Amino acid sequence: SEASDSDSTILVTGGSGTVGHAIRWAVSRYHPLFGRKGGENWIFLSSSDGDLRDYESARAVFEKHKPDQVIHLAARVGGVFENTRKPVDFLRDNLAIDQNKAELRPVDKVRKLVSCLSTCIFPDNTSYPINEAMLHNGPPHHSNYGYAYAKRMLDISNQAYSSQHHCNFTAVIPTNVYGPYDDFREGCHFIPAMIQRVVEAKQKGLVKIQVPGSGKALRQFIYSRDLAKIMIWMLRMYDSSEPLIVSVDQDQEISIKAAVELICELSMFSGHVEWDISQTDGQLKKTADVTRMKRLIGSFDFTPLQKGLMETLEWYNANQNHVRK
Ligand code: NDP
Repeated sequence: SEASDSDSTILVTGGSGTVGHAIRWAVSRYHPLFGRKGGENWIFLSSSDGDLRDYESARAVFEKHKPDQVIHLAARVGGVFENTRKPVDFLRDNLAIDQNKAELRPVDKVRKLVSCLSTCIFPDNTSYPINEAMLHNGPPHHSNYGYAYAKRMLDISNQAYSSQHHCNFTAVIPTNVYGPYDDFREGCHFIPAMIQRVVEAKQKGLVKIQVPGSGKALRQFIYSRDLAKIMIWMLRMYDSSEPLIVSVDQDQEISIKAAVELICELSMFSGHVEWDISQTDGQLKKTADVTRMKRLIGSFDFTPLQKGLMETLEWYNANQNHVRK
């Protein structure tokens, strides 16, 4: 009812990241399921509001805002190469952030918590498509096991809190996310890395770019703003501690090669793409089954990749000098 929804404080950790900015965008408009509702106070945190790896700073920030709902996005996030180089950093930082956020307020005060897992943390040796029930059925891919095992513990934590304290703690499992405000720093994800490389090549008048891997790996890309809307829907409508895979349909899965060609085409870069096959492709595929999401949410208009990439490119072109670097 309107009364019980009034004066809700919703804290978004990691509010300055790709998904955090998409949630800001979604709640800049009113919508009963996918946007802001009356009486809601949305607070977006960045690491400068407190390092969530540190228990005392984490507690201080939660004491200050006293949220009754939390969208937990803060994480150490990176692309496959960065993950391979620094498994300890990804394991340690994410375990610390996730453990601290769980201890922040007396659990009965946070009535809903939605955290963020990823399809890249699933077992490497698996059948496809992967579904929610397979999350813990074997070791993750060696390229990101530090990140993967830390993230899997978020699910364990949600199950444990729900069973011992009857908390409404849950998680979304997105496939590869891209969108405006992405992280374009060294070690970032594939799409922002490619956008940066192609735009720079075009600006410098280069006739070829080099891309790591063979281009054969397959991915389901989800636009950050679509993910944001569905996470807000989960906050309102989803009452299970079981995590939920959220993405475009399986038939929208495309090769890295096709994604790079699309970025070149949208950027009007006509140079040659050279594939460096001495570099890893990461997982060859991680096709995700969205049957459960579709059953629960009904119809949802996902942004076509071409449109989402165009908006991301436009954002990058307009903000090239002040992206996170
Ligand atoms: P970003 O890297 O864009 O943003 C990370 C956010 O976490 C930033 O707001 C950052 O703050 C914050 N953060 C990082 N370290 C700390 C810390 N020690 N203390 C406090 N805040 C911290 O990530 P995304 O938006 O891409 O990802 C959001 C969530 O979605 C993550 O949990 C990620 O694991 C998950 N995910 C992402 C996917 C993707 O493809 N991008 C795919 C699947 C899941 P600051 O800006 O100040 O550094």
